[in-house]
Amino acid sequence: MQANHNELWLLPLGGCGEIGMNLNLYGHDQQWLMVDCGVTFGKNQPGQPNRILMADPDFIASRRQQLQGIVITHGHEDHIGAVPYLWPLLLCPVYCTPFAAQILRRKLRDLKLIDQVPIIEVDPKQPLQLGHFLLHWVPLTHSIPEAFGLLIECPAGRVFHTADWKLDPQPILGAPYQPQRYQALANKKVTAMVCDSTNATLPGHSISEGELLAGLEHYIAKAKGRVVVSCFASNLARVASVYRIALAYDRQVALLGRSLSAMLQAARATGHWQEGPFVPNEHLGYLPEHATLVLATGSQGEANAVLAKLAFDRHQDMELAAGDTVILSSKTIPGNEEAVTSLLKALQAKGVEVVDTDTASMPIHASGHPCQDELQLMYQWVQPQIAVPVHGEPVHLQAHAELCKAWGVPSQLLGRNGDLFLLAPTPGIRRQVVKTGRLEWLPGDWRQPGELICATLDSDK
Ligand SMILES: [Zn+2]
Ligand SMILES: [Zn+2]
Repeated sequence: MQANHNELWLLPLGGCGEIGMNLNLYGHDQQWLMVDCGVTFGKNQPGQPNRILMADPDFIASRRQQLQGIVITHGHEDHIGAVPYLWPLLLCPVYCTPFAAQILRRKLRDLKLIDQVPIIEVDPKQPLQLGHFLLHWVPLTHSIPEAFGLLIECPAGRVFHTADWKLDPQPILGAPYQPQRYQALANKKVTAMVCDSTNATLPGHSISEGELLAGLEHYIAKAKGRVVVSCFASNLARVASVYRIALAYDRQVALLGRSLSAMLQAARATGHWQEGPFVPNEHLGYLPEHATLVLATGSQGEANAVLAKLAFDRHQDMELAAGDTVILSSKTIPGNEEAVTSLLKALQAKGVEVVDTDTASMPIHASGHPCQDELQLMYQWVQPQIAVPVHGEPVHLQAHAELCKAWGVPSQLLGRNGDLFLLAPTPGIRRQVVKTGRLEWLPGDWRQPGELICATLDSDK
């Protein structure tokens, strides 16, 4: 099964009909291009690390000589996380921008693969030719530095693959969104827009990172004791906002948790961290309570993360007490509610004041994905012939497709993992042409390139 020189295909193996583990293949003239290669996290026994799941790449692994490379749109786990696990089956170059490359290198070092995987760090200002595919990096605002959409051109057509985005006029780190970048795409006649559906069921416009400053400041300003703020580690804009507010209120900032430290290191190495230094953790014991602010991992209730250790008095550098404040600047990912609730109860039992998005009177967390008004603007600017909703559960894809119909996008292709989306020359869909499934990474000895390192977990069929 391969596209000819008149055809342009999209074949999602993961992330279409589910949230997480994005893996998209574009096909043209007997070649394939992979866009993103992510993981999703499965639930495990309480106290055990989450299971690491990813799309089964069997279809492309068995024709890897046709694969021109893996292109990574941004450094979130659902887009980059499976590269170390699946690369031994694919054996191709991996293209990413500097910040994502930093994140990937750390993962590869952890798995002792750093000397094997060819990471090609790209300059997003330059187009990139991979086989028949010419790629242009299109900057977007999201919830991590260096988030890009891709304009993918080949002789059969053009796709704007948005990956994850929102329209943020005040992203704190990086430039605000630039409508002219997307309006310019309309002049190029975009065949299809393959677009983020995460928040397609939500009316209105997402909250800007900048709008959170007032809420975060409100709670930090009124705190008397220590303040602990927990957010997603990759949200460096949030980290920077909290850092600036802390300094304005004469609090010194410490950073607790491996994933936060890793992100900060990547941000420093790529010029995304312009704020000052952090207080060494061992100084936390001596700092006055009112002069302390700690950024901590564990907002999802993870048993081994910092917040849980603080809640259950298991942290070596700090103990929380009555009068301290914990701010959860995050949303609870479905499936983690129980863990988060028991974490909050433990904190409250100690007399710690807890502020989360449910109890806060002002916004303290913002999504990184577009709501309906943002989607509408993007479709108006780009004017694609075809809308392909991806990055969502069926309910999100459905809502997204219906909106596009109402907005007059000439055609909408609504499908799921394993469906073949025919983008050119004639729009269409061939259902379930490829068997899809999930793999689970099983920690253990690393195998030789080409060997399966995962157990087949289930099939979608
Ligand atoms: Zn994503
Ligand atoms: Zn993302």
